[in-house]
Amino acid sequence: MASNRKVLMLPGDGIGIEVMNQVRVAIEWLAGKRGIGFDVREGLVGGSALDAHGTPLTDETMADAMASDAVLFGAVGGPKWDSLPFAKKPERGLLRLRKDMDLFANLRPAIVFDALVDASTLKPEIVRGLDIMIVRELTGGMYFGQPRGVETLPNGERRGVNTHVYTSGEIVRVARVGFELARKRARRLCSAEKANVMEAGVLWREEVTKLHAEYSDVELTHMYADNAAMQLVRNPKQFDVIVTDNLFGDMLSDEAAMLTGSLGMLPSASLGAPDSHGRRRALYEPVHGSAPDIAGKDMANPLAMLLSFAMMLRYSFDRGDDADLIERAIEAVLERKLRTADIMQPGMTPVSTTAMGKAVVEEMAKLAG
Ligand code: NAD
Repeated sequence: MASNRKVLMLPGDGIGIEVMNQVRVAIEWLAGKRGIGFDVREGLVGGSALDAHGTPLTDETMADAMASDAVLFGAVGGPKWDSLPFAKKPERGLLRLRKDMDLFANLRPAIVFDALVDASTLKPEIVRGLDIMIVRELTGGMYFGQPRGVETLPNGERRGVNTHVYTSGEIVRVARVGFELARKRARRLCSAEKANVMEAGVLWREEVTKLHAEYSDVELTHMYADNAAMQLVRNPKQFDVIVTDNLFGDMLSDEAAMLTGSLGMLPSASLGAPDSHGRRRALYEPVHGSAPDIAGKDMANPLAMLLSFAMMLRYSFDRGDDADLIERAIEAVLERKLRTADIMQPGMTPVSTTAMGKAVVEEMAKLAG
């Protein structure tokens, strides 16, 4: 179907290809039944691009990504390419996309579906109904700050250096994403840093507090990041949106993800700055990798990929209703006790990747009436 919604699909390697196929099924259904079309281009990334072109991401594919409203990314990597030098590794393709698209805000929802409440290692009453969003700054802070490196001191000792550095502009732009998201959810934003021991943390707190003046309808709290880590396992439902820096966000988002119990259920989005029309560059991808151990066996859980697609509908195309439909369909499929191997429990019905994708679309059709 012709459309001005430009999407670049990059399935990648391993199960990336299999889970992306289930998105195609959903796209086809949406086009046929809801009249929402996409102008989909496809490209190679990671190992498949290395095999075809000798690079994990060609300049042409990068240009396609820059010209798209959204990029849908599967997963990259696999044993075949493990021994390549760092600059040629499949993951470089993803890193280049993030860098060139300047995707500075990483959104990681942690949602516990009722039917999977027992998959969490935490008690059901702690996680039932959990729905939180972690916004992690992705392009600054400790992982990129200069100076960095390992040096040998005059006394022969070696010293490793990384620098935690943020400008006010970098803080404000990611905090703004946090406030905007909170506004569309339960209107609560918690900012996590270490203002008690880090100057960059003091600046972070000051800038977020200043920005709050523009978002007085959102309740803002501040928390030291170590306390946030504790609170996430003690009482995670106290949070709505958490905004934090790159280093703390790396840890807090993985911790929050595990409250839900399964890698195959976790979507993510990475957003850049808005253009003059308010449109942001954006990349949507499941949190999991290419899972070489199960690749090609029609065993992978496609739900993280489908949930990433739902995020794309919501955040890049303002199609919240269609995103809700996919999420409700996934809930219904889980209620029907259908499970891929990774979320299998006694008494449930095992299904393949393909069957799970098909079941989601069936439920979408039922829910849409
Ligand atoms: P992985 O996420 O690929 O797999 C970890 C484990 O979880 C495996 O046992 C796998 O079978 C299982 N798993 C993951 N996703 C699943 C799904 N959707 N359904 C069912 N089971 C699932 O991580 P890994 O094994 O550490 O890495 C494998 C390859 O993926 C490596 O080459 C790594 O570099 C790459 N990787 C890529 C990304 C990415 O593309 N964003 C992220 C992480 C790892």
